[in-house]
Amino acid sequence: EALNERLSSLRDIQVSFEFFPPSSAEMETTLWHSIERLAPLKPRFVSVTYGANSGVRDRTHKVIERIHNETQLQAAPHLTLVDASDEELRTLAQQYWDQGVRHIVALRGDVPQGQPNPNRYASDLVSLLRDVGDFEISVAAYPECHPEALSAQADLINLKRKVDAGATRAITQFFFDIEAYLRFRDRCAAAGIDAEIVPGILPVTNYQQLLKFADFAKIRVPNWLHHMFDGLDDDPATRKLVGANVAIEMAKVLAKEGVEEFHFYTLNRAELSYAICHALGVRPGLEG
Ligand code: FAD
Repeated sequence: EALNERLSSLRDIQVSFEFFPPSSAEMETTLWHSIERLAPLKPRFVSVTYGANSGVRDRTHKVIERIHNETQLQAAPHLTLVDASDEELRTLAQQYWDQGVRHIVALRGDVPQGQPNPNRYASDLVSLLRDVGDFEISVAAYPECHPEALSAQADLINLKRKVDAGATRAITQFFFDIEAYLRFRDRCAAAGIDAEIVPGILPVTNYQQLLKFADFAKIRVPNWLHHMFDGLDDDPATRKLVGANVAIEMAKVLAKEGVEEFHFYTLNRAELSYAICHALGVRPGLEG
């Protein structure tokens, strides 16, 4: 009860939503329905992911352009540096700036298997973007450590480099271990990282797919989560209800721990993200 009271007194929770570029007409319809559904929640920004090959790159640009031209939302493209030269990146960033885009999510991207490490990092991209324009820059953070990091401490120092280079927000990889997030946030503060460490929330509906994501990204899937989805492989309706419950409970605990900004990996679906926002008090027509 105390928790609910505290939540209802929160006025300043901000949210952002992440989408990916659709690859078919049907997926495009789903995406735009989701954007329309979530827009009245007045997100701080909406971001669009960026794939590492040129076809997908173009699609990010198209979605960003349409959000920018047809909605009131702040559109933030993701940009990765692995597959582009500095000159190409500068040109792309300048194009975005000229179109009125003012926020970029700056990432290194994944180095394709078998390719040597290019020894260029997201911090280099942050510096490059700073040279092009006065962008708001968000970067990635890893409460459970990035899989390639030499150590958790080295990964933390990398995040500090990104913030010192000009990033003002770190969006975390998704997680289910709330303690790991809270410890990470404390370590960031102790290291003098003054950017907001915004939890990235992945509402789960497809548990088997989640296990693949988590395995790839080396994210711990706690036993309690396994227990929640156990036996529901052939029951999508119940999975959705359970997924909403899991995410709402997590978001409430995080809010109680003082988190005021949430980023949602929507997977282009509005339903669960909308429900979680509702539970956090983020509703149409209300400020915050
Ligand atoms: P960096 O911050 O550069 O870190 C990469 C690794 O290098 C880390 O292990 C770090 O510790 C290490 N490192 C950094 N500097 C040094 C150094 N000087 N010496 C040695 N090691 C160093 N991928 C996409 O392709 N498209 C997307 O749209 C996308 N969106 C994402 C959004 C979010 C919120 C998150 C969390 C991830 C996203 N990713 C995306 C995935 C991301 O590109 C990968 O996780 C990638 O492997 C690392 O990117 P980064 O920006 O965190 O890299």
